[in-house]
Amino acid sequence: MILPADPKRNYIAHRQHIVSAIQRVLDGGWYILGQEVEAFEREFAAYIGVAHGIGVASGTDAVLLALRAAGVGAGDAVVTVSHTAVATVAAIELAGAIPVLVDVDPETFTMDVQALEAALELRPGVKAIVAVHLYGHPADMPRILEIASRYGAAVVEDCAQSHGASIEGRKTGAWGNVAAFSFYPTKNLGALGDGGAIVTNDAGIADRARILRQYGWRTRYVSDVAGLNSRLDEMQAAILRVKLPHLDIENNKRREIAARYDRALASSPLRLPVAKPNVHHVYHQYTVRYDRRDSLQAALKTAGVGTAVLYPQPVHRQGAYSGRLPQSNLVHTEKICREILCLPMHPHLRDDEVQTVIDAVLEAVR
Ligand SMILES: *Cc1c(COP(=O)(O)O)cnc(C)c1O
Repeated sequence: MILPADPKRNYIAHRQHIVSAIQRVLDGGWYILGQEVEAFEREFAAYIGVAHGIGVASGTDAVLLALRAAGVGAGDAVVTVSHTAVATVAAIELAGAIPVLVDVDPETFTMDVQALEAALELRPGVKAIVAVHLYGHPADMPRILEIASRYGAAVVEDCAQSHGASIEGRKTGAWGNVAAFSFYPTKNLGALGDGGAIVTNDAGIADRARILRQYGWRTRYVSDVAGLNSRLDEMQAAILRVKLPHLDIENNKRREIAARYDRALASSPLRLPVAKPNVHHVYHQYTVRYDRRDSLQAALKTAGVGTAVLYPQPVHRQGAYSGRLPQSNLVHTEKICREILCLPMHPHLRDDEVQTVIDAVLEAVR
């Protein structure tokens, strides 16, 4: 079976260096918030092109702590999309805030900027916007920042699927007031366990995030603010330091595979993903649209091609959230989730496997 994502192959590709990095941490005898985390925070912030990096325990925590560090708290309204990982919305609620859901652009699958502006017009005092760079395609940050500044809202980027993506050469994570990354194993930069990071150019936000991730301590055992425990551990940081120098190469491999799918499927009835001009798409997912998605997925499975549907239900339709969150018209969000299918996409897909996927898709839609 060709897997939709394959973190084990990534581990095997870097095995020797990962094993010696783990050994180094084990022998060093310091396991939480030490020199590996500090070095990774510096290296990752430099890679994104910002001043500060703060390692945390997961992408969900990164969004939560980014919001709290940006001053979002109880009862504040935060605009985001419903077509995203549930973690985006869960993190807003964990911060005590109220997610306000808007539609996505059906071409890029990212926040519809007109819907954003309408939501801000309708509800004065929105505190923040969480822009999600879904599937590796950046949201329209220039427009979002322009709108946000007119309405006085902070901008948090959810970069959990966009490590290394950029707009006009500036990386996702370097546009908003603060940004959140996940290092879940299947992400473009993945740990071998949970992990996340916050990046920002704002020294005040960085300072607050750093304190919040460890019980609100400024000095040991003394909490300045009410924080939590959300630390990146030394072992995951050491593993991420092995993988970070390969991120651009691996993203380029994803882009080559995407280009091959693009060419081979151009005249098929599938709607293929687009990359806007000026955007460097990193294809966390290669997401096609097809009106008979379920039968396509079943035919591919029979042909040995594993696929995924990210996401089968928009957040506002899921039991935990349905009927209780403010939302605007979500017509594209509703339609997309019935049609989307993510083809296998990871940097270690072999040429023959890509061909198998292409042949199986063409056969299934013939
Ligand atoms: C993966 C993901 C998250 C959550 O990351 P975790 O590390 O699993 O907590 C948040 N937002 C998006 C868009 C994601 O894809």
